[in-house]
Amino acid sequence: MEFDVVVVGGGLGGLAAAALLAKKGLKVHLIEQHDKVGGYATNYKRKKYRMEVAIHVLDGDHEFNLRNEIFDRLDVRENVEFVKLPEFYTCHFDGQKISVPDHFEQAKEKLSAIFPHQKESLASFFQLMWDVNKSMHASTVREPLIAPSNPLFAIFYPELEKYWTVSVGAYIDRLFQDNLLKVVLLANSTFYHDNPHELNILQFMASQASYFLGGVYYVKGGSQVYSNYLAKVITDNGGTISLNHRVEKIHVENSQVQEVFYRKTRGEEKEILKSVKAKHFVMNAPIPLVYQLIDQHPNQEYVNEIKEFKHSTSATTLFYGLKRPLKDFGNESHLNIFVDARMNMMDFSTFQQSVGIVDYDIVNTGLCSPGIYSCDLIYMDRLSEWNSLSPEGYKHKKKIVSDFYTRKLNSYFPGVTEAIDLFEVGTPKTMVRYTSNPSGSAYGFSPEFTEHRKRLLFWKEEAGTSDRYIRNLHFGSAWSYFPGFSGAQIAGSRAAKEILKQEGIPW
Ligand SMILES: Cc1cc2nc3c(=O)[nH]c(=O)nc-3n(C[C@H](O)[C@H](O)[C@H](O)COP(=O)(O)OP(=O)(O)OC[C@H]3O[C@@H](n4cnc5c(N)ncnc54)[C@H](O)[C@@H]3O)c2cc1C
Repeated sequence: MEFDVVVVGGGLGGLAAAALLAKKGLKVHLIEQHDKVGGYATNYKRKKYRMEVAIHVLDGDHEFNLRNEIFDRLDVRENVEFVKLPEFYTCHFDGQKISVPDHFEQAKEKLSAIFPHQKESLASFFQLMWDVNKSMHASTVREPLIAPSNPLFAIFYPELEKYWTVSVGAYIDRLFQDNLLKVVLLANSTFYHDNPHELNILQFMASQASYFLGGVYYVKGGSQVYSNYLAKVITDNGGTISLNHRVEKIHVENSQVQEVFYRKTRGEEKEILKSVKAKHFVMNAPIPLVYQLIDQHPNQEYVNEIKEFKHSTSATTLFYGLKRPLKDFGNESHLNIFVDARMNMMDFSTFQQSVGIVDYDIVNTGLCSPGIYSCDLIYMDRLSEWNSLSPEGYKHKKKIVSDFYTRKLNSYFPGVTEAIDLFEVGTPKTMVRYTSNPSGSAYGFSPEFTEHRKRLLFWKEEAGTSDRYIRNLHFGSAWSYFPGFSGAQIAGSRAAKEILKQEGIPW
C-alpha cells in the first residue's frame, strides 16, 4: 500500500488529522484542491492588505476544550502566537452599546448589574450553559461512546436529552422578559444561524461556553499562519501534501474505499487522472460532496437520508483595506455586532439584518501596520440569494450589496468611507468556489433544532466519526462534528483516533 492514510481536503479538520497521524509515524498524504492549505482558515493578499477570510475569533484553553490535546500533541503553543482580545463582543443597538466580557463570572456579573431585574434568569442561563458544556464534554470523551439512540443516553446526559429539540429563541423567550437583554445575549448567535427560533440551544450554549470559559483570541498574523504551521508538522513528520489537486472519484469495493482519483486543478497535466491507494481515507471535504464522489455505496438508503439533511447558512463578507484605522472613526472593539433593534424582538426577525464588523487593528493582530488597516463586515446569507443570477445580475447585485453595506458601515463609523482604499466582496458563491462547501455552508450541517440530532448519525457507539458501512472511510470536518476553529480540528482528531484504534496504535 502506497500510504497508510490519504486525507482529502486541507481545511483545519484535514490538517489536524494528518498532522496527528504523521506524528504517530503513519505514512500520510493530503490532497487539497487549492494552491494553499487552510480551507476557510486562510488569508489572502490584495495590494498591501492581508485579509482574514473566516476565523475572526477563536476560543481559548479551558478544562473542557478537547482542542487542548491537539495543541499539546502538536506543540502549537510553542510555535503559534495567539492574541488575547479584550472582550467577547460588543453589541450595538439603537446608538447604544454593551460589551460582553469573555469570562463566565464577569459576564454574569456585568449583565446582572445592567439588568438587575433579570439577575435570577441570568444565573439560570449561565448555569444551563455550564451544564450543557459539561455534558457535551462528557458525552464526547466517554469510552465507549453512548450514542443518542441508546436508552442510557437520557440517563447519563439529561440536559442533552431535554434540549435536543429546543431552540435558543424559545428558551430565551421563556426565561427573560427584557428584550434588550435578549438582544445582547443572542447578538453573536447570528454567526451560527440567522434565526434564534431555529437555532438549537445545545449548539449555541456549547459554542458560547467555550468563549466564556477560555477567553477569546485571534491568531497573530492571521489564520493562514496557523494552517501553515499544521502543514509544516505534516511534512516535518514525513507526510506529503499535493496542492492544486482535486479528488473527483472515491472508488468503493467490498465495503472499503480502494482508491481515490484526482487531477490537477490548474497548469499542465490537467487532463491526467491520477489515483492513490491507502488503508484509510479521511474526508475533510464536505460530507455531502463525499457521498456524491463515492461510486458505489453499499447502502444507498443511508446515502439518500444524508442527502436530505439541511446545510447551515452561508455568509457574505465585505473586506475593506483602510488608509486610517477604524478607531479614528469611533470604533473600540475587535468584534462588533450591530443589531438594528427596534426593541420589539418578539420574532427576532431583526437578527436577520444584523451585521458583524471586525476591526483587525484594535489589538495587534499582525495584519495592520501604519497606513495599512483592515476590517470586515459580515452578514449571514444564503446561496439561493445569488446562484440563480446571470453573470451580469450577479455583478449588479454585488454592487448593490456593497453600496448598501458600505453606507451602513459609514453610518456606524461616520466618515470611514473616506479612508477606504481597497474593497472586495465575497458571497456564498465565492465560498462554494473556494472550498466546495455545498450551499456555501459556513458550518457544515444546519444547527437548527429540527436537524441537530441528525448530525449525530456520524457518531457510532464504538467509534468517532466514520461511515457506518465503509470501515476505512473517516470524516474530519465541521460537517462531522462541530464547526469552528476548535470543532473542525477536534473532528480531525476523532478521525485520527479511530484510525489509530483500528491499527492498534495507542493514542
Ligand atoms: C464567513 C465565516 C466566518 C467564520 N467565522 C468563524 C470564527 O470567527 N471563529 C470560528 O471558530 N469559526 C468560524 N467559522 C467557521 C470555521 O471557519 C469552519 O467551521 C472551519 O474552518 C471548517 O474547517 P473544515 O476543516 O471543516 O473545512 P473547510 O475549511 O471547508 O475545508 C475543507 C477543505 O477541503 C477542500 N476540498 C473540498 N473538496 C475537495 C476535493 N474534492 N478535493 C480536494 N480538496 C477538497 C477545500 O478546498 C478545503 O480546503 C467561520 C466560517 C465562515 C465561512
